[in-house]
Amino acid sequence: MTAQLDLATVLLLHKSSFLIGALCFLYARWQSPRDVGLGILATGFLFLALASTLAGYGEQKLLPRHLWTLSSFSLGIGGYALFWIGVRRLSAGRRRKTDWLALSVPFAGALIGLATHFHVVNTVRAGVFNATALVFLAASAFAVASDRASEPLPARAMLAAAMTVGANLCLAVVIGLVKPDIIPITTTYAFFLSIICHFAIALFTLVLVKERAEAELRRSADTDALTGAGNRRWFLAALPKSNWTGDCLVVMDLDFFKRINDRYGHHTGDQALVTFADLARKNLRKGDCFARLGGEEFGLYLPSTDEEQARTIAERLRIAVEDLRMTSNGENVALTVSMGLAAADGAERSWEELFNRADAALYEAKRLGRNRVTSSGTPRGVSDVERSVVLRTTA
Ligand code: GH3
Ligand code: MG
Ligand code: MG
Repeated sequence: MTAQLDLATVLLLHKSSFLIGALCFLYARWQSPRDVGLGILATGFLFLALASTLAGYGEQKLLPRHLWTLSSFSLGIGGYALFWIGVRRLSAGRRRKTDWLALSVPFAGALIGLATHFHVVNTVRAGVFNATALVFLAASAFAVASDRASEPLPARAMLAAAMTVGANLCLAVVIGLVKPDIIPITTTYAFFLSIICHFAIALFTLVLVKERAEAELRRSADTDALTGAGNRRWFLAALPKSNWTGDCLVVMDLDFFKRINDRYGHHTGDQALVTFADLARKNLRKGDCFARLGGEEFGLYLPSTDEEQARTIAERLRIAVEDLRMTSNGENVALTVSMGLAAADGAERSWEELFNRADAALYEAKRLGRNRVTSSGTPRGVSDVERSVVLRTTA
């Protein structure tokens, strides 16, 4: 198929694909200003398009040889340097000023070219160009893959793979130039494969941006804006759909919260909610789920936890809240919390039943004077209403 392609056509496609890639990056940059690096990526692709255009004109003998070879070489290397800087920023939001030092590579290349005229020799120019592009592409692939731990988006694997294929293509070209008998790759074929690789790179970069936006949307849909804790929606979704026997549910409600608002102001009330949520999260184990269910009410799901263990955890948090030293305009703000605990014993048919029992226990904790943990007993063979009456309280 590639045998039917002539170099001029492939070079035209080459520069057009970089131009379209740059336009897509600019559009994505405009749509998601938080994704730093897209603008630099677009500039890198524009440099590569310009380098490709100059090479195309040069091949048609429209420009002096020494001019087009040096300018397309330097702009191309500059394009890959910008590409690497852009990828590092996009991948992890790094804004390291030292990354810009990568631009010294094309400058150095241009200066060495002016001094030695190595660029006039096609094989040397192509060899140095592809070796440098290989390094920038491999480094970009490494950046995208190594940032996976902090942001595990599926598109990272595909993007890193596309960049690795691009780097290997550059390697194949370098080997083909030195030892054509090992890899007999033609210029046309190399440019053709380069178009495919850069097309895949641009595509998966945009998929990464899309996946990041979706993850951000999911996160904000699941998070309470004030406290940063999970919200009710997230909490209900996090509860297991079956096999909850041996788990515990705790419903918590800050005591006399309306009074805090009335006396110290809404802002202090907000601060109290944030402080409580931070404290709760610090007191939890890995695997426990904590969320703001609404207003000054919070939920805690403790998997594989018996009633005594749950009571210990809840008590520890209750005491930590009691011991909190919060002030508002120099005045001490007393904050306490009441909790209702329900342990699943296998008799519950739904979480709703467990919530009802925890709510009933919380109601009892309030009734008995607040600032306490009350658990709902779970004798078998009794109705939900009867169950909620069997309560145990600690103060
Ligand atoms: P109890 O001890 O019986 O729980 O009494 P309470 O005052 O805590 O309960 P009540 O339901 O009467 O009042 C809850 C208050 O919580 C009323 C509401 O204004 C306040 N509240 C709910 N959400 C927020 C919020 O996001 N910020 C602030 N500052 N207050 C809130
Ligand atoms: Mg309350
Ligand atoms: Mg309440």
